[in-house]
Amino acid sequence: MTALPVDDLNFELPEEIRMLKDTVRKFVDRELIPIERTAREDNRLKPELRGQLAAKAKELGLAGYDVPREYGGLGMGLVAKVTVWAELGRTIALPSRGVEVFGPNVSPILYHLDDEQKKKYLLPTIRGELNWCLAQTEPDAGGDPGSMRTIAVREGDYYRINGMKRFITGAEEADFAQLIAATDRSKGSHGGISAFIVDMKAPGVKLLRAQELVIDDRPWEIAFENVRVPVENRIGEEGDGFKHAQHWLSVGRIRHAARAIGVIERCLELGTRYAKQRVTFGQPLAERQAVQWMLVDSFMELHQLRLMAYDAAWKYDCGRDIRAEAYMAKIFGDTQSYIAADRCMEIHGGMGLATDLPIEKFWRDQRSMMITEGPNEILKMALARHVLRTYG
Ligand SMILES: Cc1cc2nc3c(=O)[nH]c(=O)nc-3n(C[C@H](O)[C@H](O)[C@H](O)COP(=O)(O)OP(=O)(O)OC[C@H]3O[C@@H](n4cnc5c(N)ncnc54)[C@H](O)[C@@H]3O)c2cc1C
Repeated sequence: MTALPVDDLNFELPEEIRMLKDTVRKFVDRELIPIERTAREDNRLKPELRGQLAAKAKELGLAGYDVPREYGGLGMGLVAKVTVWAELGRTIALPSRGVEVFGPNVSPILYHLDDEQKKKYLLPTIRGELNWCLAQTEPDAGGDPGSMRTIAVREGDYYRINGMKRFITGAEEADFAQLIAATDRSKGSHGGISAFIVDMKAPGVKLLRAQELVIDDRPWEIAFENVRVPVENRIGEEGDGFKHAQHWLSVGRIRHAARAIGVIERCLELGTRYAKQRVTFGQPLAERQAVQWMLVDSFMELHQLRLMAYDAAWKYDCGRDIRAEAYMAKIFGDTQSYIAADRCMEIHGGMGLATDLPIEKFWRDQRSMMITEGPNEILKMALARHVLRTYG
């Protein structure tokens, strides 16, 4: 007896996105994986490569795939982005944070600016003329934005901003920062912090030092000393900063999950290939149950992660609130991709540590992903509030 099909439940990607996936996969296999160990210098894609890759992407019809049609792009949504980010996650060729080769790197919040702000910041960013960074974390306020010390005090048509930001990716190349600052400390994160666009060349903005890390990223420490920011550069209403940050962080968390799909997949490819060819005690590693189970666990987790990431992206494209889905997908994706890299390293033995293979970089990067844009523990705390509300 066959069951009646449920017509409106469909786990297949639409044709258009399947084609996008195939194209990006070929691009990664042909253009990126062969150069993945030499493509970066100081953790930046070499400038000559950036141009070449962007030109190839344009030839393949990938340029601006995620830019809305009204701004000249292909208008694809977060489901398409998950697909692209997952494919790109299979290689270490690109810096692990904040680089797009298929068009401009546009922060999601820029699409929510008012018309004047869009003209000044969104459109030039789409044209690739402006770079941005996100300045939220501080020495005394990382996962807990409510204890933020950077303060924006309104003085007529301006805000005067004073404070310090830490771990800011891409600050050295940024033309403007999306900065979060306290406007009313007594209200904490809900109602007390606001978001601003700050010109990085404004008097009083000082890049202090790039932080050396166990990963290749070098995020910056920045001081803001009496920086005057016009009121028209505030994003949304005063006190709405946390709401805006939640929005762009949710998309960022889905990006983590998507990248993790690619990492697990590549680790499965590398681990399986090696397990089949490496013989110990007269048998290939692939014949050993201990090794098979490592691969099988990663395979199951890959499937779970795909469902979580695509479900969240689909809900986002439908206009739904995805905060809880984004917490879950990020926690699960970052953790399981780190474990997948660790298993892959174990299967390779000493070669797993070799810098001519990508495994050690996946391993370092994915460990760092479990901390940035919300450490697992803090996201679980936020998720716990959701669970207690839902089931209490
Ligand atoms: C490579 C890199 C790039 C970054 N890029 C940016 C950027 O571009 N812009 C930006 O604004 N920030 C950026 N960050 C900052 C990053 O998002 C923060 O480091 C992260 O949010 C954690 O903040 P923190 O380091 O202050 O840790 P803390 O908030 O001090 O937390 C420390 C640890 O304590 C634990 N913990 C904290 N609170 C709780 C709790 N309530 N319950 C249980 N455990 C808890 C967690 O394990 C956590 O890892 C970057 C960081 C790195 C390393």
